[in-house]
Amino acid sequence: MSGTNDYAVRRRRMVQEQIAARGIRDQRLLAAMSDIPRHLFMDQALWPRAYEDHPLPIGSGQTISQPYMVAVMTDALGLSGGERVLEIGTGSGYQTAILARLADWVYSIEYIAALSRRAQTVLEQLKIFNVNLMVGDGSKGWPEQAPFDAIIVTAGAPVVPQPLVGQLADGGRLVVPVGDRGVQTLFRITRRGEELVREDLGGCRFVDLVGEYGW
Ligand code: SAH
Repeated sequence: MSGTNDYAVRRRRMVQEQIAARGIRDQRLLAAMSDIPRHLFMDQALWPRAYEDHPLPIGSGQTISQPYMVAVMTDALGLSGGERVLEIGTGSGYQTAILARLADWVYSIEYIAALSRRAQTVLEQLKIFNVNLMVGDGSKGWPEQAPFDAIIVTAGAPVVPQPLVGQLADGGRLVVPVGDRGVQTLFRITRRGEELVREDLGGCRFVDLVGEYGW
């Protein structure tokens, strides 16, 4: 059985070898990923594998994203501390915890109630309180709390969900995987007034975004 200290060592190694070595430079992000105990967001049976370089199952047919993918998506949001962030796909709550460290407030929507409940428990254990979790269809966004400075979708969408674009603040960034089932392209869409700037951030693989604007 590994102790807390062993996990801290594994986490630092994960950040060096999987994240920093691949070009992520944001020191706040690297610090957050060094600090937040990723293993606690999984079943105990998976703790020995929690810092490996790939996604892992979290139940209900869903996965916790690969650490590097969490880093790439978070980096693309360009958070500096004051943002209101919307996350679609709470899942384990790990990405939520990273966002909460880097922004002012995180709203996170999860379709599967059991996952949301478990994420809530872990976030409370870690005393992360600047988050609001909701169970429901996040493909429609969270209109009551809009606009958002940053929106992140952690499931693959067939097309960019238009309600999310509509809930971006001026200057706001939406990071979303779009494409076929099982293989997508990661896009960043930035709102500049009425103009939308779309950038291709590379290939990725996510579980399906379901709901009205999903599969
Ligand atoms: N960020 C999470 C990723 C979980 S996988 C983590 O690293 O743990 C993606 C999650 O999106 C799944 O939990 C799935 O249930 C959820 N999801 C899929 N479609 C959704 C929708 N329309 N609204 C909210 N959550 C959705």
